[in-house]
Amino acid sequence: MGYLKSTPNTEGFFGEYGGADLPPPLVPHFKEITDAYLRLSKSADFIAELRYIRKHFQGRPTPVSHLKNLSDLCGGAQIYAKREDLNHTGAHKLNHCMAEGLLAKYMGKKKLMAETGAGQHGVALATAAAYFGLECEIHMGEIDIAKEAPNVTRMKLLGATVVPVGFGGRSLKEAVDSCFQSYVSQADTALFAIGSVVGPHPFPRMVRDFQHVIGVEAREQFLEMTGELPDMVAACVGGGSNAMGLFSGFIEDKDVALYGVEPLGTSSKLGEHAATITYGEDGDIHGFRTIVLKDAEGNPAPVHTVASGLDYPGVGPEHAHLHRTGRVTYTAASDTEALDAFYKLSRHEGIIPALESAHAVAFAIREAKAHPGKSILINLSGRGDKDIDYVTETYGFGE
Ligand SMILES: *Cc1c(COP(=O)(O)O)cnc(C)c1O
Repeated sequence: MGYLKSTPNTEGFFGEYGGADLPPPLVPHFKEITDAYLRLSKSADFIAELRYIRKHFQGRPTPVSHLKNLSDLCGGAQIYAKREDLNHTGAHKLNHCMAEGLLAKYMGKKKLMAETGAGQHGVALATAAAYFGLECEIHMGEIDIAKEAPNVTRMKLLGATVVPVGFGGRSLKEAVDSCFQSYVSQADTALFAIGSVVGPHPFPRMVRDFQHVIGVEAREQFLEMTGELPDMVAACVGGGSNAMGLFSGFIEDKDVALYGVEPLGTSSKLGEHAATITYGEDGDIHGFRTIVLKDAEGNPAPVHTVASGLDYPGVGPEHAHLHRTGRVTYTAASDTEALDAFYKLSRHEGIIPALESAHAVAFAIREAKAHPGKSILINLSGRGDKDIDYVTETYGFGE
């Protein structure tokens, strides 16, 4: 059996990572979601409707672009980008949100709910809810609400209710806790649509499968463009959904080296980065086993990165597994490297990348010189319009 069919196992374990450690009242609801997903992922109607949505609403397939100017500038490997920035709403997240919305519709649910950090997942889910005529409830920390006002406006325009979360650090981790609490009392009629390849089973597998389209398209497009497979494939890793989407297309191609790029923030000191696999240890977070950044008491540590979408002290269990098996190499790029990549891609290619995606661009810039004659395919997970005010007000326009 191939890797994707056999991993995770039926309990949701990727090797020793993953699983579902749930409060008892939620156990039957997660079973219901698992059963529905397993049934619908084999249903011709479900698959046909999802294909239709991807083509006629999202604008897929997104292209692969040869970044010729950037390759010339770096001197070495040829750099290519899978353009998820051209997906509707400007990032890869809509791939799993539309599928989760479709799942909710087939399950007869009335509402989609989720946490959001910077608001990107909230906007993508609110878009799906509007498309399917479902209600939408988004939990967001008060600090993030103040920082990400345009995304709050977008969610409200799309018809979502934004629930401010005012306890603890008032950010992403508390938003997850708050959303779980609210979900317990309405799980009969609502679907909790987790925003990455994280959370209890079946979400890490389901979200990977919904993002698999990135890798399938990219493999075919790259072969058509160059006649070969890429030598190196890289993506930024927050929770890890855009990376799993791209990697899953190449996971059986043993000659293709896969790289996950974590945010190194301002330094390797705890609290100043969010490079979970690079510096973390085995642990539990939000109902699953994975690698976690922990503080002195063993609780999830505070994290920092210039890219708020990568701001999570855990990581999807499949990444922990692929790190353990050695199939994927994990490395990190700092805020400074990501900003340099942000300016370079804008100036030399005419593409303003999301700060998250800029971490993958930074990896390509760093590695290109050392790999002449090779090819590097990166995932451009999203566009950077959301980041331009922050970047230019804080750091200027680059040299
Ligand atoms: C949310 C986000 C990410 C990080 O999420 P993953 O699950 O790690 O992919 C990366 N890029 C963009 C543009 C995002 O919005």
